[in-house]
Amino acid sequence: MNNWLNVADDHDFSEHNLPFGVFRSGGESHIGVAIGDHIIDLNIYASDGNLSETSFDASTLGEGTLNAFMDCGRPAHKELRIKLQSDLGNENSSLASGRDKYLVDRIGAEMVMPIEIGDYTDFYSSIEHATNVGKMFRPDNPLLPNWKHIPVGYHGRASSIVMSGTPIRRPKGQLMPPDADAPVFGPSKRMDFELEMAFVTCKGNALGDTISTADAEDHIFGMMVFNDWSARDIQKWEYVPLGPFLGKNFGSTISPWIVTMDALDPFRVTGPKQDPKPLEYLHCEKDHSFDIKLQVSLQPKDSESTIICRSNYKYMYWNLAQQLAHHTVNGCNVRTGDVMASGTISGPQKGSFGSMLEISWSGKEPITLKDGSTRTFIEDNDTIHMNAWCQKDGKRVGFGTCSGEILPSN
Ligand code: CA
Repeated sequence: MNNWLNVADDHDFSEHNLPFGVFRSGGESHIGVAIGDHIIDLNIYASDGNLSETSFDASTLGEGTLNAFMDCGRPAHKELRIKLQSDLGNENSSLASGRDKYLVDRIGAEMVMPIEIGDYTDFYSSIEHATNVGKMFRPDNPLLPNWKHIPVGYHGRASSIVMSGTPIRRPKGQLMPPDADAPVFGPSKRMDFELEMAFVTCKGNALGDTISTADAEDHIFGMMVFNDWSARDIQKWEYVPLGPFLGKNFGSTISPWIVTMDALDPFRVTGPKQDPKPLEYLHCEKDHSFDIKLQVSLQPKDSESTIICRSNYKYMYWNLAQQLAHHTVNGCNVRTGDVMASGTISGPQKGSFGSMLEISWSGKEPITLKDGSTRTFIEDNDTIHMNAWCQKDGKRVGFGTCSGEILPSN
């Protein structure tokens, strides 16, 4: 540890992390960086001239979202990171001497949407998840023939992505009961979560241009935890022929802090072997997988939480560089502030499945919670908590929690 706040190396928000978020301060939205139980208020820190020597435009830190700062590019993000680490290691720095002014309490802070999200894309990149879901519908042929050649995805809806802590109302829609002749209208009876990670883009490409796997990480600001809430019964009736729609677009939840690619770099690992070898534009020269431990718990109202899934981002078959290269290979332009979610991250064994659909095997195998109640899908007033963290050689980088409660349908 090398900081005068004495934040331990194994704290979620250690000096090795320094994730970005936006919090409410006196009626305004301020950009901040988390360190231990504090937030460095970058709005005030920058406006006092502490970043006047930097090569990027520090006035971007006075905005109410991260978009303008993200648009400065990866070298700017790294430069600020190095400056803050240096200030945190120096008891005579302006950050240390102005700590009463620059540091705010993280625990009591109200976090708000850190970015203005332009477009949102959801991939389907876990082979375990795709195989599990496929098995329920096509036992003999679970993985479709294109799956190992294409990072499959769809365009989702950005307007309904919300900050952790925002309740989600159980959606109503068309449902086709088993053995019925016609659909009925009503609240979803098969409410589900999907455990995902999402990345945020920080530099776009012009329409008609592409982003290679080698350049992909220059276009990625960082990552957060992502819950892609799903109404399985609405989804099942609507998804043929054009894919996910109202079973998905009523809400998705993000964790408040965006962990930068520089903070994730030490946790890089080799991803699963890809066989058959993907087409040339999907080849990677280096590793783009990360060892991010994931955990989901379900908490009934006024009761304790039960852990229902332990998974890891490293299980993903397609990595984020391949996802971004594939997304743009046809000339599609991405912009700063686009969000791309990984798809449900399931591991190989039971216990590592990232949705209730898989955990209860389509409702056939209920699970028992600590309070003795059972679940096949999410019930009203259940809260889903998702956590993610990296840890290696005693150094920890945490994402914080992505939580949301399901409210009864109105
Ligand atoms: Ca999904």
